[in-house]
Amino acid sequence: MRTNLSIDTQRWPEVWQAAYRILEGELLSEQLRVWIQHLELLSTENLGDRVMIRLGAMNNFTAQWIRDKYRNQLENAFTQVLGYRAEVQVMTKESQSVVTHEYEPPVERPGGGTRAGEQNLHEKVREIPHVQESSGAAPNKIDPRYRFNNFVVGSSNQFAHASAVAVAENPAQQYNPLFLYSPPGLGKTHLLYAIGNHILAKNPDVRVAYLSAEGFVNELIDSLQHKKMPQFRAKYRESYDVLLIDDIQFIAGKKSSEEEFFHTFNALHSNRRQIVVSSDRPPKEIDGLEERIRTRFEWGLISDISPPEIETRIAILKAKAEQDDIYLPDDVSTFLASCIRNNVRELEGVLTRLKLQVSLTGAEISLEMAKQELKMTAPEENTQFAVESIMNAVAKHYQLKIQDLKSISRARTVALPRQIAMYLIRKYTGMGFVEIGQLFGGKDHSTILHGVRKIEKEVETEDSIRQAVEKIQNLL
Ligand code: ADP
Ligand code: MG
Repeated sequence: MRTNLSIDTQRWPEVWQAAYRILEGELLSEQLRVWIQHLELLSTENLGDRVMIRLGAMNNFTAQWIRDKYRNQLENAFTQVLGYRAEVQVMTKESQSVVTHEYEPPVERPGGGTRAGEQNLHEKVREIPHVQESSGAAPNKIDPRYRFNNFVVGSSNQFAHASAVAVAENPAQQYNPLFLYSPPGLGKTHLLYAIGNHILAKNPDVRVAYLSAEGFVNELIDSLQHKKMPQFRAKYRESYDVLLIDDIQFIAGKKSSEEEFFHTFNALHSNRRQIVVSSDRPPKEIDGLEERIRTRFEWGLISDISPPEIETRIAILKAKAEQDDIYLPDDVSTFLASCIRNNVRELEGVLTRLKLQVSLTGAEISLEMAKQELKMTAPEENTQFAVESIMNAVAKHYQLKIQDLKSISRARTVALPRQIAMYLIRKYTGMGFVEIGQLFGGKDHSTILHGVRKIEKEVETEDSIRQAVEKIQNLL
């Protein structure tokens, strides 16, 4: 008997809790609280002999840190809980905005082998720069959960919403292409899906494709490698009536992707197919985007979404709570909406975590609980904790006191460890040189820059330094 190597949404809380309990035995409560607790499930994928679990962290820095420090422990914990091998990827929540689950059971192979083809593809994609977290073959499914009727309209998104509705009502008539742009987390992907869902609801025969620009690029690379360009071209230029492309800024500066996209665009447009594009900024601000593509984006309608005003934020929270059947008191929604201003995804994230707490403890959501939750997610806290861990680890390795690291002593016994600490803080927190200077008793930024560069070089050239750095990293 083979197990079904997938985790559905229903089972996830249970799996996560069990894994968390294992981690509790291995990590400090502080580490769990700062790094692990806020991880969210983005997707799981059946890789034949193992399952890939993609987890979302708050930001790049957190994701990097967790990858470096806790990935093994996460993998072991999931493997124990599931009873088959789990591989973990950690990325920012932004990198994959929609949860997709693969329920497909593994293919039985003679001799119980794995799906070699799939694995190879996976490994190949990973080797290509900028494409580590491949979403696999584009286009993706249109997520049925995102619709016009659960998109809350306010003055910040009114125009974008109206243009999306117009396009969904009459594809390829008035506005082609439709170009939607906004900072992350304000509903672009939601509107793209809503357009797709609306068109399909009216006529299931319309061939609608949703894909991320990243998916387009990955598929293009794959088609180039496998000499499948004719199929690739035919697919995108001929087989869709509506093409929804998300996060187009991703293709900027990628020559062959821009070239292909340009011809795809022309083919679709001249055949009166609807094109909808989203981006994190307006066409003229996309650095490195080919002029001829930019002009085409300007042929149609350009709509932007700005951060919602407080009333809309409250309305969104209430709508989500209702949809998820959560009781959310008014004082809590007002409090959350006044704290989180610029990103609806973050707003939802807090609600999800509150919901989890409710299901774990059975308590009702309260203002106190919400305050506690927000306090824990402050990103500064991660940075501060990272700095402390690094200082501690360096001091411990060299048997010094933290004060020694921060002192002005120029003795080599202290100077080298201090530079290693600067280097690691830079590497893991991405803090600026001036800021790092503050940590070391107000040192000048050029001193920090010099120290960081020196260790960067010595890690490459001197065994003793590399080994020391590795040992210290293991203490983190
Ligand atoms: P973007 O693509 O702009 O980064 P998304 O479309 O992924 O943002 O939106 C992030 C989350 O916020 C999604 O879960 C989406 O449903 C939700 N969201 C954003 N704006 C609204 C809105 N006006 N009404 C309801 N939900 C919204
Ligand atoms: Mg998006």
